[in-house]
Amino acid sequence: MQITSMTTYFVAPRWLFLKVETDEGITGWGEPVVEGRAHTVAAAVDELADHLVGQDPLRIEDHWQVMTKGGFYRGGPVLSSAVSGIDQALWDIKGKLHGVPVHDLLGGAVRDRMRMYAWIAGDEPSEAREHATARLEQGYTAVKMNVGGRMRLLESRREVQAVVDRVAAVREVIGPERDVAVDFHGRVSPALARELCRELEPLHPLFVEEPVLPELSHRLGDICSGTTVPIATGERLYSRWDFRPVLESGIAVAQPDLSHAGGISETRRIAAAAETYGVGLAPHCPLGPIALAACLQVDLASPNAFIQETSLGIHYNVGSDLEDYLLDASVFDFRDGHMARLTGPGLGIEIDEKAVAAAAEKGHRWRSPVWRHEDGSHAEW
Ligand SMILES: [Mg+2]
Repeated sequence: MQITSMTTYFVAPRWLFLKVETDEGITGWGEPVVEGRAHTVAAAVDELADHLVGQDPLRIEDHWQVMTKGGFYRGGPVLSSAVSGIDQALWDIKGKLHGVPVHDLLGGAVRDRMRMYAWIAGDEPSEAREHATARLEQGYTAVKMNVGGRMRLLESRREVQAVVDRVAAVREVIGPERDVAVDFHGRVSPALARELCRELEPLHPLFVEEPVLPELSHRLGDICSGTTVPIATGERLYSRWDFRPVLESGIAVAQPDLSHAGGISETRRIAAAAETYGVGLAPHCPLGPIALAACLQVDLASPNAFIQETSLGIHYNVGSDLEDYLLDASVFDFRDGHMARLTGPGLGIEIDEKAVAAAAEKGHRWRSPVWRHEDGSHAEW
């Protein structure tokens, strides 16, 4: 079998899809994207296609090695995300060739269904309460919320209390049997992270995510040892090498993104590395249906997979959502807080190529917001 072409599609709301075609008529799909840098990643995919077109798509590991190491310069979000989407598509092809889901090729399912969580918005306690209620009605048993908006290096008593009040409002709605996680989104300084984690302890969050920026990962040890709240991170780490010091810092949950951390091949290895530290796997996924299917394939085969994020109904998905690009959206069979095992070959989804082509005619130029503090200086988003 040979790869004959690799085509990228910019589709709303902010995604990039990749179609890899072969001379045997089997097509694989991947989602190689950095949010806000879709065109840059598409250029990286185009460069990697120079190596891949004409090659056997089934030699996934050899391609992974050459793509990540063969250019001398390596790592980072752009190259790793390009590799990730290509890797997903190659696994899709291999699964389709053998007529089995990817998790069967990874050793077979270790679970029948995967627990899911969804995002809730809301800057005020009343809004957060309302959104949490809506998620419960959809069947979720776990939700995640942001810590708040712009955060200064150190915050006033009022701002700290506002964070606690919002999380408390959600806890009140969901009760003690369900879970709420709090995403600090890298907006918080190490000192403020320690203070906020301590304040949130009585509310028993499932985890606090990205308490500090990835470049401050060397401070994670202090944060982990300073609180009983489990710490999660990893959406901005791109390989098992990026994860190694973070796993050693004492985090509870690793959150590689299947579209940033080297795809199915590397996330599977990150999961195994996490297992050696007693750390759970909760793949980050605010992206589209291909990325979600890739996450679920790894979750289904990984013993330490703990919970899976989905972007279904997330606030970024304005005007389009996960189901819009699938021929049969019922493969995402969500009930009782869990997604049923994907059983179709490859990634387990069928892409609606007409819908993708139509969306790609419009394309998108989504960019991350730029925030400013009250004094005019840049604020982390
Ligand atoms: Mg996050």
